Amino acid sequence: MSEEIVDLTKGKISPKVRKKLESIDKPGRFIISPALIDIQINGFSGIDFNDEKLKVEDIEYVSEVLAGQGIGFYCPTIITNSEEKIDYLLNVIKQATEQFELCKKMILGIHLEGPFISKEDGPRGAHPLEFVTAPNVKLIQRWKEISNNLVKIITVSPEWENMDEFSDYCIKSNILVSIGHTSANTGQIEQAVRHGAACSTHLGNGSHSLLKRHPNYIWDQLSYDQLYASIIADGHHLPDNVIKIFAKVKNEKLILISDATQFSGKQPGDYETLIGGKVTLTKEKRLYVADHPEYLAGSAMGLLDILKYIKKSSVLDLEYAISCATNHPMDMLKRVCKFNNDAIIVFYESEDDLEYLGTYDEVLD
Ligand SMILES: [Zn+2]
Repeated sequence: MSEEIVDLTKGKISPKVRKKLESIDKPGRFIISPALIDIQINGFSGIDFNDEKLKVEDIEYVSEVLAGQGIGFYCPTIITNSEEKIDYLLNVIKQATEQFELCKKMILGIHLEGPFISKEDGPRGAHPLEFVTAPNVKLIQRWKEISNNLVKIITVSPEWENMDEFSDYCIKSNILVSIGHTSANTGQIEQAVRHGAACSTHLGNGSHSLLKRHPNYIWDQLSYDQLYASIIADGHHLPDNVIKIFAKVKNEKLILISDATQFSGKQPGDYETLIGGKVTLTKEKRLYVADHPEYLAGSAMGLLDILKYIKKSSVLDLEYAISCATNHPMDMLKRVCKFNNDAIIVFYESEDDLEYLGTYDEVLD
């Protein structure tokens, strides 16, 4: 008989399932949880949501793969690109939600990461400089229309002059403003929070490699209780001690994201990227610019991999980490979209690993 059943669903587990799990002879713990929510994911398993040849079937495929890893909901993420390409990608994702039931169910909204970010090297990350531009209400209005209101999160840097008007438009239009890829100063961040910014995008990444000790935009964002913070807790993007501190400060406002790229789910090796240039994927799932191991080239881990990493490293309490990938993003997204996270999944936790067993229904069968 298994040692323990942990119920993170606030009592949704039925006596039947409890009995079934209790009858399985395994030494570890079963964890029953709401399905995972990934609010920032650029692609998976060879599909890139920023590919100019993206097809509706690609999105259905990624949805299936993610569903097989315990992801119940996600926000496909489009990064800085030309206006026409963003138009095209938004339209394809919208069509996928119209054509495929699974996409409609899983895609809570689109996360637009850019093009209204910092032009500076470092904060800009790998976003192409030529398409970075000031926040523009007309553009976001157009993208909202093209996507049929699917744009739900926009990552933007508040260092631009017309930020107030832009934020006000987003709040009014049910789009969450998240601060990211920024070199904004203290006053600009304070102003963005006052105008309703809800989150910090992958806090601690997409920043200068050398930063003035204080003030700086990491302390500034950490200081506001109103801001959620998303982080990439994969063992490569942030040191464990930084993850621990962010969790202590943000508590129930910390959100785990994968920020996964098309290289997630692939074998270690060298790969060609969409924008040209090679990347190397190690067996530890560290993805870096070929011949430059010091430069990360995005993430190659899904949310499930990240939870496995957290389990192995003990950087965070596992049950808390699962809340950071379920209840916390759900609480934030409830401001802009209506949905019920009634999908329930089952993990098996052994001494040194975390295994995804399936949805409640699959495990019950
Ligand atoms: Zn980013």
